[in-house]
Amino acid sequence: MSYQNLLDEIKKNNLLVDKVRLKKVYDFAAAAHQGQVRQSGDPYISHPLAVASVLAGWKQTQPVLEAALLHDVVEDTPVTGETLQSIFGEEISILVDGVTKIGKVKLRGSTNRIFVENLRKMFVAMAKDIRVVLIRLADRLHNMQTLEAVPLSKQKRIARETLEIYAPLAERLGMGQLKGDLEDLAFPYLFPEEYGHVMEIARPHFLRAEKTTKQAIQLIRTKLETYGLSVEIHGRHKRKYSLYKKLTRPEIDGDLTKIHDLVALRIITNSKLECYAALGLVHDLWQPVPYVGISDFIAQPKPNGYQSIHTKVFDHKGHIIEIQIRTRQMHEQAEYGAAAHTLYSEAKSKGASDEKLERGTAFNASGKTDWIKQLASWQKEVGSSEEFVTSLKLDALSERIYVFSPHGDVYDLPKNATPVDFAFAVHTDLGFHLQGAKVNQKIVPLDFILKSGDLVEIIKSKGKRSPNRDWLQFVKTAKARGKITRSHLADVK
Ligand code: MN
Repeated sequence: MSYQNLLDEIKKNNLLVDKVRLKKVYDFAAAAHQGQVRQSGDPYISHPLAVASVLAGWKQTQPVLEAALLHDVVEDTPVTGETLQSIFGEEISILVDGVTKIGKVKLRGSTNRIFVENLRKMFVAMAKDIRVVLIRLADRLHNMQTLEAVPLSKQKRIARETLEIYAPLAERLGMGQLKGDLEDLAFPYLFPEEYGHVMEIARPHFLRAEKTTKQAIQLIRTKLETYGLSVEIHGRHKRKYSLYKKLTRPEIDGDLTKIHDLVALRIITNSKLECYAALGLVHDLWQPVPYVGISDFIAQPKPNGYQSIHTKVFDHKGHIIEIQIRTRQMHEQAEYGAAAHTLYSEAKSKGASDEKLERGTAFNASGKTDWIKQLASWQKEVGSSEEFVTSLKLDALSERIYVFSPHGDVYDLPKNATPVDFAFAVHTDLGFHLQGAKVNQKIVPLDFILKSGDLVEIIKSKGKRSPNRDWLQFVKTAKARGKITRSHLADVK
């Protein structure tokens, strides 16, 4: 991976980039990482270059590419955030800072469902700007692509984190291709035996399917062209991990012959009208399969904005084959999701006011992948507290904070919560033994305002003590408030 590769990717995607400035950023990053090597033995700078190239492939803007080149500088070199700000400006330093912060959200041992959910929420709450999430996702993609070089003991943890945190996040952002890539990259590391088994039994089926697919594409093309429709048609393999998951479903019970979308055809049209025309012509050519039928996600998009028509038909050989029909725009949306739009950054760079951004009114009304809407629906799906998804405004996600206990458990607290709130959230008893607190290993006052990602440790008193009444002036949770008040009422009696 060289700087030239990045320039090639920028050119391929027709991105408007100030190359003089980009080169300056690259030279700075290369100098900062000078002498560092990756576990693969490659010079370290090859990694930020690869991450920036992935983002160029997602058609991201200059600040994102620059922040990608610099994304590991603060974490892994003596360069500070202040230095970045003074040389490259506030926007870049804020992006790099966000990427550095959310990088600290790690799966630590526990794969307990609630823990993982809270971890995902913490990640989102800390990111604030979708561009930060996109850079982290691109970073994770490249780390997964080069996971081979990492020591065995770390491989599994990173792969699990990818499957539990990053792939679901990509899915919620409507980035179907990335989600599939991340899952397939993690699969062999997490389930090596199952991976080997699935690959072995699937191979002959894929080979056969590929052959008939070629003929099927030809037949459909001819049919559509007869009626003046010129479209793109591709065959696509079912993803490995998604095939594995399907095989484990009770109704499939490991029987590959029951899976009908091993290879699917995708018809890409120029308009919605053409989608329905193509659907009619396909059904005229081949009978739809009774009952399993047709799903019209154009008329009724999936919650993440996904649009497409899916139909299953008996092909020329009498085999069931799945056909997906969508416009070019829907296709890009399905593959790149939020990255295809980055509405937030565009709206902001076009000068939308912060107020508008907060209310969400700066976003294109037709943009179905509005970042906040996405994440709000995501939070809803993972089952969050009611007050969490109060509205679609930008700061809806920062109404809560997520902090770690020394054991690595994640606690969900309201914004501006303090170590006292934390103590009572962990256990009432801890609240009654509260003597002091440490945040990120430093002693802090008890009215200290916690932030997402903080590691909070309570210093316990030897004996039980009554909570201080003055704490009522700064506690944020109803639980802490209630316990403190009640303990004093008891005193009075
Ligand atoms: Mn990195």
